[in-house]
Amino acid sequence: MTDNILKLVRNNIKNLTPYQSARRIGGQNGNILLNANESPKSIFFKSKKKSFNRYPECQPNNLISSYAHYVNLSYDQILVTRGADEGIELLIKAFCEPGKDAIIYCPPTYDMYRISAKIAGVEIKEIPTIKNTWQLDLLNIELNLSKVKLVYVCNPNNPTGNLFLKKDLISLLNITLGRSLVVIDEAYIEFSPKESMKNYLKEYPNLVILRTLSKAFALAGIRCGFTLANKEIVKTLNKVISPYPISIPVSDIAVQSLELDYIELMKNRVLDSNNNRTWLMNQLKNITCVERVFESNTNYILVKFFMFKKVFQTLWDKGIILRYQNEKINLNKCIRISIGTRLESSRLVKELKKFSKKNMFQGAISEK
Ligand SMILES: *Cc1c(COP(=O)(O)O)cnc(C)c1O
Repeated sequence: MTDNILKLVRNNIKNLTPYQSARRIGGQNGNILLNANESPKSIFFKSKKKSFNRYPECQPNNLISSYAHYVNLSYDQILVTRGADEGIELLIKAFCEPGKDAIIYCPPTYDMYRISAKIAGVEIKEIPTIKNTWQLDLLNIELNLSKVKLVYVCNPNNPTGNLFLKKDLISLLNITLGRSLVVIDEAYIEFSPKESMKNYLKEYPNLVILRTLSKAFALAGIRCGFTLANKEIVKTLNKVISPYPISIPVSDIAVQSLELDYIELMKNRVLDSNNNRTWLMNQLKNITCVERVFESNTNYILVKFFMFKKVFQTLWDKGIILRYQNEKINLNKCIRISIGTRLESSRLVKELKKFSKKNMFQGAISEK
């Protein structure tokens, strides 16, 4: 019976593995969650609105103004979405013809560019970043631009934590000018704010920037993100967005989070996280089961382990949940660790030391 019904499903959806989100993979029963790059600490808000019988505005006016003020752009350069993830999808909906156009993305990176294109039936061209430097392979991007409407670049990159060279991003904008949009995903930009490309919006009509309140703003639970672009692009995206994407409690809390006091708190959390990252990196460098710690400009670090499977499982069993990256291109034996509180990081370090003592001995490093 259901077989017949399932025949109705589009082919690209039948064969689709959905995004492996932290909450979907499980591990939320652990007590130290270092797998979704969330803020380890919460701030507390009260929704000021009490009645909900009316629909919200499609693009809540005060929220757009608040974000415009935060990024110092004009009102018509901003679209608010259900998380940055919705921005990724709306761009494909508005710009890519299924079966005809393509997107480029540069793995190892955030997986939603690929998955959103797959769902839409839009061709994917993968141009991996250059091994060892993790910078853009501009030459290959340029050679593969035919049919490409969107080039997604995550800066700083998830899960590697590196920044792309500004001069390369500018070259990319020049190469694609008049042909494709460059979508820079700045989900983690608050951890290295000087690197934002937002000031290039006035110069490059093909630049689009994605932002979110899920990471530095500690609001992953409300699902609120922003797309920054020139006003014609914003107008176009407003044609394909759903009629009421942002619920009243969401916009109410998002507006509060963008008040000056809360922005100060956010900046303090970022400093805290950056300090904890330095501390954790230094600790990890002296632990025997750690093969390599990569530099990071974000609230997570990528670490290459000896016996990575066993490390992952041992920590999981202790309630410390990390994010596996081994299946991604050039990330053999890598695990991503979100920066938690200092207490959480200390627990992690303690367990890794214990693990090393028990499992690692000179000259006998077995890879399994
Ligand atoms: C977390 C994340 C997002 C998703 O942000 P939401 O606003 O929670 O949808 C987008 N891009 C990258 C690179 C991320 O890590």
